[in-house]
Amino acid sequence: MLSKDQIIQKLMEMLGQEQINTNPDDLYDASADRYKKYAKARKVLDVPTPVAIVYPKSAEEVSELLKFCNENLINVIPRGGKTATEGGLENWKDLTIVIDALYMDKILKIDPYNSQATVQAGVALQDLEDELRKIGYTTGHSPQSKPVAKYGGLLATRSIGQFSTLYGGIEDMVVGLECVFPDGHISRIKNVSRRAGGPDIRHIAIGNEGTLCYITEVTIKIFKFYPENNKFYGYLINDVETGIKVLREVMVNGFRPSVARTYSEEDAAQHFYHFHDNKCVLLFMAEGPKGIVEATGKAIEEATEKFKDGIIKQVDSQLISDWFDNLNWSQQDIDDEYEGMIENDAHAGYTTEISADWETIPKIYNNVIERVRNEFPRAHELTMLGGHSSHSYLNGTNMYFVYNYEINCAPEDELLIYHHPIQKIIVEETLRMGGSMCHHHGIGKYRNEWAEQEHGSAFYMLEKLKESFDPKGIMNYGTIFPQKEAIQKYIYRG
Ligand SMILES: Cc1cc2nc3c(=O)[nH]c(=O)nc-3n(C[C@H](O)[C@H](O)[C@H](O)COP(=O)(O)OP(=O)(O)OC[C@H]3O[C@@H](n4cnc5c(N)ncnc54)[C@H](O)[C@@H]3O)c2cc1C
Repeated sequence: MLSKDQIIQKLMEMLGQEQINTNPDDLYDASADRYKKYAKARKVLDVPTPVAIVYPKSAEEVSELLKFCNENLINVIPRGGKTATEGGLENWKDLTIVIDALYMDKILKIDPYNSQATVQAGVALQDLEDELRKIGYTTGHSPQSKPVAKYGGLLATRSIGQFSTLYGGIEDMVVGLECVFPDGHISRIKNVSRRAGGPDIRHIAIGNEGTLCYITEVTIKIFKFYPENNKFYGYLINDVETGIKVLREVMVNGFRPSVARTYSEEDAAQHFYHFHDNKCVLLFMAEGPKGIVEATGKAIEEATEKFKDGIIKQVDSQLISDWFDNLNWSQQDIDDEYEGMIENDAHAGYTTEISADWETIPKIYNNVIERVRNEFPRAHELTMLGGHSSHSYLNGTNMYFVYNYEINCAPEDELLIYHHPIQKIIVEETLRMGGSMCHHHGIGKYRNEWAEQEHGSAFYMLEKLKESFDPKGIMNYGTIFPQKEAIQKYIYRG
């Protein structure tokens, strides 16, 4: 086993000085992500800091670094835009190197004729989007972290954006990619329109959360953009069930609005304070070529007419359009939230996103809300409990539970006292009813205690992938794959 000093010495032999960061503040920042934002801001993190953050410039340098870590049993945490929400960037090992994609930030090719673009892992989504808009195209990908998240992280977490109902999640956009395994092997999956050469191996990299390989490059689809045709629809409705029924009607009839959402009244109150009137909110956006937008708009109107008993009134479409303009989080917004927590804000907001079929989603929603109100010992300290469905499919939809609370305990106890019991109820109810406990944030370190239950007999397949590609277990220890001792120590604080 190498000492920390020996590791840094070896890194200096491999990389230039500007590629190695051992600044104590940056290492503290790198030891946890937004999951532990409050404890982090209050400087009471109980996890080890990494030995160094390194910034490779190419797949070859990533390969050298991974080989070195593999031979010397050093844990590796791949890093992109740092917007992870489930502990994917949290460090649970004494000897860890964070491999950050900062210098792999080149847009390599924009190819409108073949509707694809190739970027390095460290390209921020917003940067590619800005380039594409100049030529009338879009990535179609718009998570709220769009200004900050980078392509490696977007793939590794199976991210999804606000316009997913039309464009799909990241998995629908990836054409080909390049990734590096712990033994240093560089794999390139070529760019073709479709293939049937065995299982779809793109999915070994997509969603791996840094536990199997390091993604260095990706080719994604790009789409013609028609903002002049955008149409927005908003409604006040009686209940979540009505909203889900309307969403289903539009989807099963074969239409694909880019946005299709239903908000509970509590969640609507924090998003649509300008018109919610203490009611639930249903909204749609239709985009694309004019004829498609018109047909989609007509389908939305027919669906709302069919369920008119649950619909209170339609609202001005400008209210919905305005709301979209201010939805994303910049780095400044993220920093401001963090700064606020350092001294003032003993108040936290969290989310847990799950998915299930049309029939099951309203049942999960109602069961969760009832159980949290009745079983969560600090329910009286909740300042908000509700949720919304924001990504719909032919056969079902997601539910994004949102819960805010005042923190009346030591900062280091907050997650265990408040967040964990609520998340546990959501996960338990979802798994009991046959849904998936993660719709798009990944498992990270804070849902991995339920990873085996999530996958059932298919967890065998994930374990075999880990054994084959990362036999020494150096990739992002504790993420996706449960580690009982570490869970006791860092989640249950035992
Ligand atoms: C304000 C806010 C809004 C958000 N909104 C959304 C949303 O609408 N939709 C959504 O899906 N998510 C959302 N997220 C979650 C987050 O933005 C996504 O998971 C995003 O994909 C993470 O990208 P990143 O570059 O920041 O990755 P990071 O946070 O740096 O890393 C995330 C995970 O991916 C791994 N990883 C990073 N880079 C690589 C790589 N090159 N190779 C292998 N593994 C890698 C890391 O080890 C980690 O486990 C939001 C987060 C915030 C803070």
